[in-house]
Formats: sequence, structure tokens, C-alpha cells
Amino acid sequence: MPDEFVPIQVETHKIEMEKTLAKFGMSGERLSLVDETERATGAERVSRCTKIEGRIFFKKTVTAEDFREVVGSLRQFDEREKASLKDPWAFIRQRLLHEICHIQYRHMDEYACNKWAFYELKKG
Ligand SMILES: [Zn+2]
Repeated sequence: MPDEFVPIQVETHKIEMEKTLAKFGMSGERLSLVDETERATGAERVSRCTKIEGRIFFKKTVTAEDFREVVGSLRQFDEREKASLKDPWAFIRQRLLHEICHIQYRHMDEYACNKWAFYELKKG
């Protein structure tokens, strides 16, 4: 955790986010940037999805506290993987891939979707 966390403005990555969705055959219309995701704690503070409709909600501004909540939810992952999320786009992409995983592979749980997202992140 860096001492000075610069809040991530997710909107500035929207085009790349749409490209990532397109890579998995998903339209950018699925994605909504919101002030709050309506979840107070855990990784869903930053992003969540509706599995049936396949919609993804992403918080517009990721604060230091949001970042801590997400990284804190990744207990089963090693420090190197978690450290890779200090890059803002890597962080956003890991969360987006996580939600894509929930929608495309509905049987996969939190851990499995995080693992899949890290794998896809490394593939580039
Ligand atoms: Zn999830």
C-alpha cells in the first residue's frame, strides 16, 4: 500500500474497459459507472455484477479505502499478485475480468473468478 494513494478515476479507462469486454464478446453497454455500488464492504464496494442480466457496475472513483477493501478480500493470493494491482489499469482490469468471469462462468465462485482474472491479467 503506497503512502499516498492517488484516487483512480475509472472513467479515464472506459475505452480500454470496453475493449476488454469486447474481447470476451460483451458489449460496452453492460458497463455502468456509478457513484456507489450499494455495497459497503468487501470487493463489491468497487465492482459488482448481476449474473442473469449480465450487467456490471463499477465505482467511478476508487479511493484508498476502496483499494484496501479489494486487496483485503484477496487473502488467498500472494503478495506479488496483490502488488501488481498498484498499477491503476491493472487494478481496474482485474476487477473487470472478475465480473466478466462471474457472468460467463456462473458456477465459479469468488476465489475462482479472482484466480481467472489474475491469469487473464498476466496474459495481457
Ligand atoms: Zn465477485
